[in-house]
Amino acid sequence: MPAVILDGKALAARIRGELGGQVAQLRARGIEPGLAVVLVGEDPASQIYVRNKTAACAQAGIRTFDHRLPPSTSEAELLALIARLNADPAVDGILIQLPLPSTIDARRVLPAVDPRKDVDGIHPENVGRLLMGEPRFVACTPFGVMKLVAEAGLSPAGANAVVVGRSNMVGKPMAALLLAADATVTVCHSKTRDLAAIVARADLVVAAVGRPEMVRGDWIKPGAVVIDVGINRRADGKLLGDVEFGPAAARASAITPVPGGVGPMTIAMLLVNTVTAAEIRAAS
Ligand code: NDP
Repeated sequence: MPAVILDGKALAARIRGELGGQVAQLRARGIEPGLAVVLVGEDPASQIYVRNKTAACAQAGIRTFDHRLPPSTSEAELLALIARLNADPAVDGILIQLPLPSTIDARRVLPAVDPRKDVDGIHPENVGRLLMGEPRFVACTPFGVMKLVAEAGLSPAGANAVVVGRSNMVGKPMAALLLAADATVTVCHSKTRDLAAIVARADLVVAAVGRPEMVRGDWIKPGAVVIDVGINRRADGKLLGDVEFGPAAARASAITPVPGGVGPMTIAMLLVNTVTAAEIRAAS
C-alpha cells in the first residue's frame, strides 16, 4: 500500500484555525498576544522565514513587533534590544532569527531572552525543563513533528525511534520529546557507524541532517513512519528533503513531503507557543 502523505500544510492550517478562537478569547479579556521578531543581517532565507512568520501571526490575530537590524549590529546592541523586549509588557514572545552574523555569539545572546518569552524553546531553562519532564516552551520544529506523528496514528510508546541529527534546535529536543513519549530513542550523527542498519530497525525515522536525500529509501523498514525535517535547495531552485522521498514512500506507512510537511508545522507551533505565553500573562 502506498504511504499516507502527511500533509503538514493542512494540519498547520487546522491548528492555526483553532488558535484563532483562543486569540479571540484573549482579546476579549484585553490581552493582545504579541511576538517580537528580530532579524540581524540580510540572509535571504532568513528574510523569507521572517516574512512567513510575520504573515502567519497577522492571520492568527497576533501582533508582531519587527526589528530588522543591519549586519553591522554589535552584540552589545542586540543584547540591549533584548533587554528592552524582555521588559516590554506588550511582548509575549521573542524570536531571534538564526543564524546570527558570525560577529555575534549566539551562545551569549540566546540565553539573554527571558525564558518566559522564549517561544522558540531554546533557552537553557526551557531545554532543562523539557528534559526534566516539565516542558514550558518546546522548540517549534520538534513540537510540530510530534503533532505529525500523532496525525500518522503512531503511538511513540515502545516504538523504536531513530533521530538522525543532534542539533540543539532539532535533533536533541526531538529525542527528548520522543523519550518523554516513551519511545526507545536512538540519536544518530556524523560519527554514527552503519546508519543504514540503525535506520532499518526504526518504526519512526526523523531526519534532520541538512543533506539532500542522504537517508535512502531502501533503508526504511516497511510500514515505518518517516518525518523529513530537511530543507535543501538544489541549484535549479527545487527543494529536497533529507530523505529519498519516492523509494522511501514506497516502503513507509506514512511520510512527510518537502515542502509542505514539517515546515508549515514549525510556524504553526511558533504561534501556539506565543499564544501560550500570552495565556500565562493573562493568568498572572
Ligand atoms: P545542523 O547542521 O545544526 O545539524 C545537522 C546534524 O546532522 C548534526 O547533528 C550532524 O552531526 C548530523 N549529520 C551531518 N552529516 C551526517 C551524516 N552523514 N550522517 C548522520 N548525521 C549527520 O542542522 P539543523 O538540525 O539545524 O537542521 C537540519 C535540517 O533541517 C536542515 O536541512 C535545515 O534546513 C532543516 N530545518 C528545517 C526546519 C523546518 O521547519 N522544516 C527547521 C529547522 C531546520 P554532528 O553533530 O556530528 O555534526
